[in-house]
Amino acid sequence: MELLFRDDAYLKSCSAKVVSAGPEGIRLDRTVFYPEGGGQPGDSGLLRLADGTEIRILDTRKGGSHEETLSIPAEGAALPQPGSEVTAELDWDRRYRHMRMHTCLHLLCGLVQGDVTGGQIGAEKGRLDFNLPDGSPDKTWLTAELNRLIQEDHAVRPTWITEAELAAQPDLVRTMSVKPPSGAGRVRLLEIDGVDLQPCGGTHVSRTGEIGPVEIGKIENKGKQNRRINIRFAV
Ligand SMILES: [Zn+2]
Repeated sequence: MELLFRDDAYLKSCSAKVVSAGPEGIRLDRTVFYPEGGGQPGDSGLLRLADGTEIRILDTRKGGSHEETLSIPAEGAALPQPGSEVTAELDWDRRYRHMRMHTCLHLLCGLVQGDVTGGQIGAEKGRLDFNLPDGSPDKTWLTAELNRLIQEDHAVRPTWITEAELAAQPDLVRTMSVKPPSGAGRVRLLEIDGVDLQPCGGTHVSRTGEIGPVEIGKIENKGKQNRRINIRFAV
């Protein structure tokens, strides 16, 4: 299965062939839909059949293998025949907000030193949990620094390294709970020039300026050393 969002997160639609279709989901030979994972929700959208029929897709999840995406149709939707040609169309407004918030969480990682123990990305807000033995950063400072990095409009780009190269640089892994996307001996990294570099399989904007203004919400106490830092879009 060809995961087109890995190389171009801005692809809003693609043509594809139905591999299989059942109540558990629809498999395509290629897709623009990101399957839920790494704190980023799956996508919603629709499949358009050659005769114009539309099948509403409510969510997308990983299938049996790491490289498979299942498109979950609305309940009661007529399923397409295997082999039929469809166009897969993203609910782009929602996905783009995920891309902006996801990229913003990378900036947060660049500003807050500490292992990441969890996280969640949404269309309105996001959060990361950090292990911070030395206490939590100041909310006002963090909001100002995040918006500075956003305004500086840094380039954001995926790169690949070998699993051996990653094993030699264990400090690159910030999130212990999420396995980096790998396969065929290579691992995908996300690099924000001079700010953050870590394994990540999600979808991101290509420049930090696209994130737009944000603000830090509550910084919650989630245990002795654990702090949950909440972010929301300011506009
Ligand atoms: Zn990422």
